[in-house]
Amino acid sequence: METEEDDLNNNNLDLDLDHDLLSFSTTSRRRPICPNCSRPSPVCLCHALPAQPIPTTTQIIVLHHPHEVQHKLSTTPILTKCLSNATAVVGRRLRHGLSPLLDQSPPAIYLFPSTPNSSPAITLSQLRHRRPPSVLIAFDATWKHAREMVRASEDFLWGFAQRVCLEVDESVKGGTIFDSELILRKEPFGGCVTTMEAVARTLGVIEPNGPDIEDRLVGLLREMVRLQAGYLRPVMPRPKLVKKKGKGEKVVVVEEDERESS
Ligand SMILES: [Zn+2]
Repeated sequence: METEEDDLNNNNLDLDLDHDLLSFSTTSRRRPICPNCSRPSPVCLCHALPAQPIPTTTQIIVLHHPHEVQHKLSTTPILTKCLSNATAVVGRRLRHGLSPLLDQSPPAIYLFPSTPNSSPAITLSQLRHRRPPSVLIAFDATWKHAREMVRASEDFLWGFAQRVCLEVDESVKGGTIFDSELILRKEPFGGCVTTMEAVARTLGVIEPNGPDIEDRLVGLLREMVRLQAGYLRPVMPRPKLVKKKGKGEKVVVVEEDERESS
């Protein structure tokens, strides 16, 4: 809901843009928000959203970590606007009572990279040769939180949902918005993708009209990244002090700056 103050800020948008370029990473209460796409007005995506939500035979459920709900780089709000059968559920784990659909234990898959000691996962290429699931589950959080959410949800998912991993290459360092047109935030290693891209890639495989749906979602993500990239400034690696093992001496290592624009 926009307030009168927001309206005034809308009028001042041009004057504020330079300031916003410098302060995009800080939370500004005055920053106008588009009431339709819920994104800051300078990066409004309405022009790129489909006129009608795209229908799918698959039901898509995104478990959205509570810390991420307000994050402006989250792709989940856009995803639920674009797909007629996508729903976001806020929480830290999937359990009975959270989603009436999941309570029925439908044939489902959930997207997360294979991790040591995790339940067996199949790849997208393997999924192509199986009967399509009726429900696709994704997790939207930082990687650390998502790993915890998956671990905490697996008891509930056991028996009806299969873990599916997009082919992730851990030997390749993760990219950032600066070196890929589809990555919004720093990813831990190569092949890690946003929730939206993971869902798009999977629908591309399991939907009858998959390639078209995938193209439309990826195109939208590309536009979202293009707009966002205009508000990011490259950050230099920053030195981080760590203790040298055993001697208590300090050595300097360089750590990639994980600050994000939000
Ligand atoms: Zn908008």
